Amino acid sequence: MDRKDIKSLFPQELEAELAALGQPKFRAKQIFSWLHEKRVTSFAEMTNIPASLRTVLEENYYINTLKIVRRLESKLDGTVKYLYELKDKNCVEAVLMKYKHGNSLCISTQVGCRMGCKFCASTLAGLVRCLEPSEMLDEIYTAVGDSGERVDSVVLMGIGEPLDNYDNVLRFLRLLSMPEGYNLSLRHLSLSTCGLVDKIDRLAEENLGLTLSISLHAPNDAIRSQTMPVNQRWGVDELMRSCRNYFAKTGRRISFEYALIDGVNDEPVHAKELASRLKGMPAHVNLIPVNPVKERGFKRGSRQKIENFQHQLQKLGVNATIRRELGADINAACGQLRREYMSEEEEEQC
Ligand code: SAH
Repeated sequence: MDRKDIKSLFPQELEAELAALGQPKFRAKQIFSWLHEKRVTSFAEMTNIPASLRTVLEENYYINTLKIVRRLESKLDGTVKYLYELKDKNCVEAVLMKYKHGNSLCISTQVGCRMGCKFCASTLAGLVRCLEPSEMLDEIYTAVGDSGERVDSVVLMGIGEPLDNYDNVLRFLRLLSMPEGYNLSLRHLSLSTCGLVDKIDRLAEENLGLTLSISLHAPNDAIRSQTMPVNQRWGVDELMRSCRNYFAKTGRRISFEYALIDGVNDEPVHAKELASRLKGMPAHVNLIPVNPVKERGFKRGSRQKIENFQHQLQKLGVNATIRRELGADINAACGQLRREYMSEEEEEQC
């Protein structure tokens, strides 16, 4: 029989599993705390659990762990980029950014991605598989263990589309926020999506308090459908309808990501169109100078052009900032480290 992933279980589920093994309820609390509060990596470390029960646990469950296979630290700002190896040898990335107000970790939700955004390195080889809740938790726990510092906020902006892994991501969020576990308030978590409207509508009903980030990147269907295939399924009008609904249901202001690509979506006319799209919606626009990806060929405009775009939005009453780039010397753009590593491995195998 395959052993079960104990780190992905809720306390109540753990209780039921232990009851089936003839164990009292309080053991579930103890084990949950070992896994998520003290974050041990073996049953042997669970010193208040009787040895006989530890043996039974060992036979029936495994404790997921990740291996750090690459660790790049920026000399400019202390940003750390991790390449983690999963138990099946697939790899994902996470980036630890240090701000005055605390540490923020950007994590992956899938191995690869099937959304096909034209400017993105993570999607070049398609989707391999979705991450388990325990694997997403371990991206955080491993960074905490390695850095010796608490991760204060989490962004789901690494490899993958979180809403294309809906059930596992929701379970991960609920486990992460449990007071008897890592106890992260979901106010300090941002979930970024390319715009799966059916899932955004579902998320609006979950009452989680997280910040929703929408990767908009274009003010109209003509441009968006060219760069983001998901737009062919749900156009900008439908996406905006869903965002307004999300705000109405949750009261949380939405953040819009907008990667500026030279000559594609960064002209004054685009800023004007974007502002009219967002009219009356409490929103924040995060402007990102596009990260050139070798295989893609998109370029960023001049700094002046980027600032003009921001000023124009501000003049039209839209709250807009330009994302500060961290880890410029370690190529912190998402998906790129994994690709480099995979192609090195392929070369080694040849
Ligand atoms: N799938 C999710 C989250 C992962 S991507 C999403 O689409 O939101 C995280 C963010 O990085 C998204 O806003 C994505 O559009 C953006 N991104 C991807 N490639 C980029 C690039 N080359 N330059 C700038 N931003 C990029």
